[in-house]
Amino acid sequence: MDAARSPGRTVPLVPALDHALLEEEAIDLVRDLIRIESVNTGDPATIGDGEARAARYVAERLAEVGIGSEYVEPVAGRGNLVARVPGSDPSAGALVVHAHLDVVPAEAADWSVPPFAAEVLDDRRHGEVLYGRGAVDMKGFAGTVVAVVRALRTARIVPRRDLVLAFFADEEAGGYAGAKWLVENRPDVFEGATEAISEVGGFSVPVPGNGSPRRAYLLATAEKGVGWGILRARGTAGHASRPTRDNAVARIARAVAALHAHEFPVRHTEATAAFLAAFGELTGRDLTGDGVDLERELGFVGAIAEAGLRNTATPTILSAGYKTNVIPGEAVAEIDTRILPGSEGEIEREVARLVGDEVSVEWKSLPPIASPSGGPLVDVLRAAVAADDPDGVVVPYLLPASTDNKNLSRLGIAGYGFAPLRVPDDFDAFGQFHAVDERVPLSALRFAARVTERILRTA
Ligand SMILES: [Zn+2]
Repeated sequence: MDAARSPGRTVPLVPALDHALLEEEAIDLVRDLIRIESVNTGDPATIGDGEARAARYVAERLAEVGIGSEYVEPVAGRGNLVARVPGSDPSAGALVVHAHLDVVPAEAADWSVPPFAAEVLDDRRHGEVLYGRGAVDMKGFAGTVVAVVRALRTARIVPRRDLVLAFFADEEAGGYAGAKWLVENRPDVFEGATEAISEVGGFSVPVPGNGSPRRAYLLATAEKGVGWGILRARGTAGHASRPTRDNAVARIARAVAALHAHEFPVRHTEATAAFLAAFGELTGRDLTGDGVDLERELGFVGAIAEAGLRNTATPTILSAGYKTNVIPGEAVAEIDTRILPGSEGEIEREVARLVGDEVSVEWKSLPPIASPSGGPLVDVLRAAVAADDPDGVVVPYLLPASTDNKNLSRLGIAGYGFAPLRVPDDFDAFGQFHAVDERVPLSALRFAARVTERILRTA
């Protein structure tokens, strides 16, 4: 290619980015990462050094193109890798692009292929498909990001914003050796960052309707919080032949039954309102009414939206007593609550009211997070998708689960779940998380490489 010329000066030669090469390299890197068994069992006794090996692998791939990185190991064998790619606009806040390198365990006997072999099989419906633990959650995005920054560097393309690349350990068990640790001990790594992109979102889902050509790419703009409550009832202990009025077992049973019977009211958060408006427009149906069955209207994406409509409190553990003829002095129940943005503190009050004075509640909570469902970064995501898929529409939603974006939010960083994947209409990307035979079509990874390149360059 000739150097571009303009009167009076010569612009240095800028080789164009080779998209075909980028796509193939993304696939290769994802496969390499899957083959590094970085299983997070959640138990220090059985966690190996897979996360460290994966982090060092990423460091080497970045070093090959001259991108320096820092390896951070809060606990032996639990490696994190961070790097900063300078942008051309120093006034723009940095964008954190993060992926976790740990994966949940895979029981090989249940799989139809070895879960860490990164085999590509030809599937009659979906073409070439890459199988392996982490294919979607989330070595697919990790490998794609590494391939994209390598391609940009090789082509000497400078992104607009500073990019803080973060590859975390321990996402699957709370980030104590990963994002949570870095946020608490090394906030300098994220200095100047205003927004973050990671999981869970970016994959396409079909729009129901008579063969609609449209596809929605879900963008997680908010995450429900989690509150774990320990309910404790006390009463007079004694011989069961002399019943008491203040029986701890009966008290805890009443509390658990009251919680189970309670239905929290529907509340539309910003993310959910944006989701319902967008799908309402795409399908021509009014989805905002109280009685609408979203799962019936929209299929599996409706079931996810349904989980974002209200707070929930679910009893999960119950324990009391040690002998049939002895009344125990204490009975305990544990509940899992999921909290909408804007409901912080409220669910604790509501649970306290429902269980009454006879039962105490102790909380361990991770608050919900919410980022704006519109704005310049969301516009970039929309444009990046539209450039590759003119029938694709980016639709915000509320993720009813948690990601490392919750940890980063403590530094004031607005988190978004958007790891682009265009999948066939009958391919359930959500269903791949932690699943047996986790897999991703190669065509989806190629799309991911193209769209992620646009996002990181122009964000
Ligand atoms: Zn994940």
